[in-house]
Amino acid sequence: MAARALPDTLPPVPKRDYYEVLGVGRDASADELKKAYRDLARRYHPDRNPDDVEAEERFKEASEAFRVLSDAEQRKRYDRHGHQAFDRATGGGFDPADFSGGFGEILEGIFGEVLGRRARKRGGRDLTLEVQVSFEEAALGAEKSVTVRKPQPCDRCSGTGGEPGTTVRSCPTCDGRGEVRFQRGIFAATRTCATCAGTGKKPEMPCTKCRATGLMEGEHELSVRIPPGVEDGAIRSVRGAGEVGPGGPGDLHLTIRIEPHPLFERRGVDVLCSVPITFPQAVLGATLDIPTLEGKVQMKLPAGTQSGKVFRLRGKGITAYGGVGKGDQLVTVMVEVPEKITREQRRLIEALASEMGTETLPQRASFLSKLKGLFE
Ligand SMILES: [Zn+2]
Ligand SMILES: [Zn+2]
Repeated sequence: MAARALPDTLPPVPKRDYYEVLGVGRDASADELKKAYRDLARRYHPDRNPDDVEAEERFKEASEAFRVLSDAEQRKRYDRHGHQAFDRATGGGFDPADFSGGFGEILEGIFGEVLGRRARKRGGRDLTLEVQVSFEEAALGAEKSVTVRKPQPCDRCSGTGGEPGTTVRSCPTCDGRGEVRFQRGIFAATRTCATCAGTGKKPEMPCTKCRATGLMEGEHELSVRIPPGVEDGAIRSVRGAGEVGPGGPGDLHLTIRIEPHPLFERRGVDVLCSVPITFPQAVLGATLDIPTLEGKVQMKLPAGTQSGKVFRLRGKGITAYGGVGKGDQLVTVMVEVPEKITREQRRLIEALASEMGTETLPQRASFLSKLKGLFE
């Protein structure tokens, strides 16, 4: 499959605070969260509000808020960093099949109540993947090709699960739905049909290639846009790029991992870089070649520069995520003291030392006079 460019999934609207969405206080207990979410989900569930786009948005918003706040780890991150703890692109892909524990149970309960006996086909599973990007790619943005391994329709039976030319019937156990309903507590829930393994079909003669699953392992290559300024650990989601299920495809969630750089470090949108200089350069001044994200630039080192001094190269940093503003590059110059010197060098330095005294070194002169005062 040829690589294709995917649309940028950044939403333009700012997000509401998760606690505000659920209408609870910041110290809400797990039970309070559950209750608030259950009430909202009942009110806004798409099956109760067909063709009501706003209700659907409300439902998604509440689901997302609950998904984050009901997970202790994610809630902690959200409390500390707000929405920035998670990439803004992850909001859209919502599928109750993704979530385990309390979340799935609540939703299944609601589906059971709201939908009655109506069958609901499950979407495919979401997939997660890590993408390695270089320091420069993360800073400047890039187009990355990723390979996703996921099942695709079997090419022998075209996904029917039956030998070509033979009849494929609906599974009698699940009536072709691929899942069966059962009672869990007071709620009805569903599970994958064991007879047909969720395919909903019963072939007369199973396909010899896929053994009636209708699926084979396949590799998909897709191209993903890495936005400039993305942070390590950020998640980009590609809707519909997950596994394909009877109810449609799941999403693909990509965790971005930024490789370390040999010269640069990053602090927010600023790039940090340390440059060793010689003692004569520090004393006399010099013009230095400084590496930046956009290539080498020349920086004037003034005469009499102290070791550890930081210079700011404006606008040579990273474009802020979302494209507003740009950081700087902070260059720390460090005077490198030679560890091994020749006899001739030693002679010259000794001559320099006796020539210089302390008149040219005000900090040292001040230190020596304070020291003297201390013990007199
Ligand atoms: Zn097959
Ligand atoms: Zn079945």
